[in-house]
Amino acid sequence: MKKRLLFLGPPGAGKGTQASRISTKYNLLHLSTGDLLRSEVKEGTELGKEAAILMDKGELVSDKLVLSIVEKKIISPNQGWLLDGFPRNLSQANSLESLLKKLSQPIELVLLLEVSDQLLIERLLARGRSDDNEETIANRLEIYREKTTPLIEHYSRLDLLHSINGDGGINQIEAAIEEILI
Ligand code: ADP
Repeated sequence: MKKRLLFLGPPGAGKGTQASRISTKYNLLHLSTGDLLRSEVKEGTELGKEAAILMDKGELVSDKLVLSIVEKKIISPNQGWLLDGFPRNLSQANSLESLLKKLSQPIELVLLLEVSDQLLIERLLARGRSDDNEETIANRLEIYREKTTPLIEHYSRLDLLHSINGDGGINQIEAAIEEILI
């Protein structure tokens, strides 16, 4: 079974939902940079204050900041992990690769959740998080297209990428993911 995983996909694709199901079921460390940043914001830390301004606009927070968060968390060599929402651009992917090289913990699989734009927007508006308003969503989708989609090519060259259709029901998508993992 593959146990060092990366989830890729646009905002609203269902990465968080699937990542928490899979990580619970297979005892993987679920690392969501979005969740980690939101908890910094909630706690009112300096890092959280800096991040909140950008998150509310749908912009990415700095590579350095997210990397410092991830670095603190990936430690145990025995437990697998599932990264969700990171990396989000090529520079983060390169930093991650050097970190993982140092730790001798290479990525085993990258799962791309694919969902049509119309459905993404519907899901995000229904979720109603503070950064789920129409303007911010449009910006997040644009940033995804511009900064994050180059990772698809990057990981497919490394022969790590698998695509999953994320249009279906939660259980159906989970089953499709498990089929690839095991
Ligand atoms: P979504 O997948 O719906 O975009 P996330 O919870 O993953 O939601 O991220 C919410 C926000 O947190 C992003 O819009 C961005 O501002 C910030 N963020 C999360 N992960 C990263 C990252 N790896 N690099 C930069 N910013 C990030």
